[in-house]
Amino acid sequence: MVFAHDTETALLTAAALVNTAATAGDTLTTSAELDAFVRRWEFTGSRTRDRAELQAVRDLRAALRRLWTCQDDEEVVAGVNALLREAHALPQLVRHDHWGWHLHATSPDQPLATRMAVEAAMALVDVVRSDELDRLRVCDADDCSDVLVDLSKNRSRRYCDAGCGNRVNVAAYRARRAGAAV
Ligand SMILES: [Zn+2]
Ligand SMILES: [Zn+2]
Repeated sequence: MVFAHDTETALLTAAALVNTAATAGDTLTTSAELDAFVRRWEFTGSRTRDRAELQAVRDLRAALRRLWTCQDDEEVVAGVNALLREAHALPQLVRHDHWGWHLHATSPDQPLATRMAVEAAMALVDVVRSDELDRLRVCDADDCSDVLVDLSKNRSRRYCDAGCGNRVNVAAYRARRAGAAV
């Protein structure tokens, strides 16, 4: 494990959220899609299930992508600190459902987008402190801008979860065969 379990989960969740605004199309356009995302990534806490909630979560994606792709540590730190400050984050160890002890820094009655933002920000705190920002990447495929977090031991992940690695390998294989045929 590169980071603590809750940090790794939060990073994978944040990447998945950013990637709902994918090159291939937006998959977070309705309350039902938001419900599915919340279920899939096991967010607990209150929901309003209205347009404003959906819009706030949608807006968060661009902010997270900016932090994810930012090349400047100081800028990431400023962004993370701002997210934590604005939400009045207060780290507390909690245990619920099937999760062991982990950090929450918001209360369950805060808006969903705030809780999502703070969870991502708390994970980025760990990433920055461990000097591991280079594990936050954008997919290497030319036609894909999905983000990914490389949690591999040898820092070898280059492609997102949407199958780009396979696609690129197949294209390279075809190109080699085409080259060999000439
Ligand atoms: Zn929790
Ligand atoms: Zn990709």
